[in-house]
Amino acid sequence: MSREPLQDGHGRTIGDVRISVTDRCNFRCQYCMPAEGLPWLDRDDVLTFEEITRLVALLTQMGVGDVRLTGGEPLVRRDFPQLAAMLAALPGVEDLSVTTNGFLLERDAEALVAAGVDRFNVSIDSLQQDRFYELTRRDALPRVLAGLEALARFPAAHPIKINAVGIRGFTEQEVLPFARFAREHPYEVRFIEFMPLDADRAWEPGKVLTGAEIRAAIEEHFALEPEPREPSATARVYRFADGNGRIGFINPVSEPFCADCNRIRLTAEGRLRTCLFSLGETDLRAPLRAGASDDELERIIRDAVWRKELKHHVNEPGFIQPARSMSAIGG
Ligand code: SAM
Ligand code: SF4
Repeated sequence: MSREPLQDGHGRTIGDVRISVTDRCNFRCQYCMPAEGLPWLDRDDVLTFEEITRLVALLTQMGVGDVRLTGGEPLVRRDFPQLAAMLAALPGVEDLSVTTNGFLLERDAEALVAAGVDRFNVSIDSLQQDRFYELTRRDALPRVLAGLEALARFPAAHPIKINAVGIRGFTEQEVLPFARFAREHPYEVRFIEFMPLDADRAWEPGKVLTGAEIRAAIEEHFALEPEPREPSATARVYRFADGNGRIGFINPVSEPFCADCNRIRLTAEGRLRTCLFSLGETDLRAPLRAGASDDELERIIRDAVWRKELKHHVNEPGFIQPARSMSAIGG
């Protein structure tokens, strides 16, 4: 069945949904979670695989074909590859991707590729074991790199992207090692600017190492040439001029891409968020569990999406950081 495209009140057509499949995580990255973790949702409060699949099926009927599974750490959700397979089997899902910290990839890479996941993003913020530990509060770099290698053995998993958060005072030392890593391995490394979505609320504008600064540091050593960019793509991608690899920059703070934003998000407990920085959200779990029809759910979703924020206000006076931090939203 086909429904009208999903549009917001600013003329943007929604084509991408990011779904948090769990709020739990085995890491405690400083820019995301507090050291002691967060109060986890009760299992009954988290959407079931069937509930997620029903919502995604409905969204695909409205033209939302890109589905990214995230968290928390998606691979800590029990039987996660089974959910991936259920979603991959939906005819309207054109692109199914997973964002993971990589810790459980040695265990799950094969099952996820077999389930039909098209693309993987692996988050790694340092290539030095002690600094990785400092940032994630877990001594896990060797295991994450082994997971990445396990994934890379599957041709269907490529291209694989590596995401590194750019934090002033930390990431400067990582820039050249990551540039070399991107040149020597079949991975596209992407730096993403630190956003005010950390549970510790330590973010301040001065802690954002911008994409432009990182690119300038790389260009002191290697010439870069820009790749063409799709309007809704968040990353500005460059290839090394000598043909050895690619590197990308996601600059939501210094160069917001809200005007082209085609994304919505679903939290683990079934709340629809129309922006990472939304201060309000729409509960889909209650109507789902109360027996709402697809047409009723469609109305609720359309109404929420119509009110999607024009843009975020991170760089403006009076900006209010959302109560939820990144791991509870689904980045
Ligand atoms: N646990 C998985 C992971 O780390 O890849 C998936 C969830 S995590 C919230 C998704 C992405 O958000 C990761 O790439 C992480 O680095 C990024 N992230 C988390 N907090 C952030 C922040 N405050 N600013 C920018 N990116 C952030
Ligand atoms: Fe966990 Fe990902 Fe947040 Fe790190 S960024 S604490 S791995 S959810």
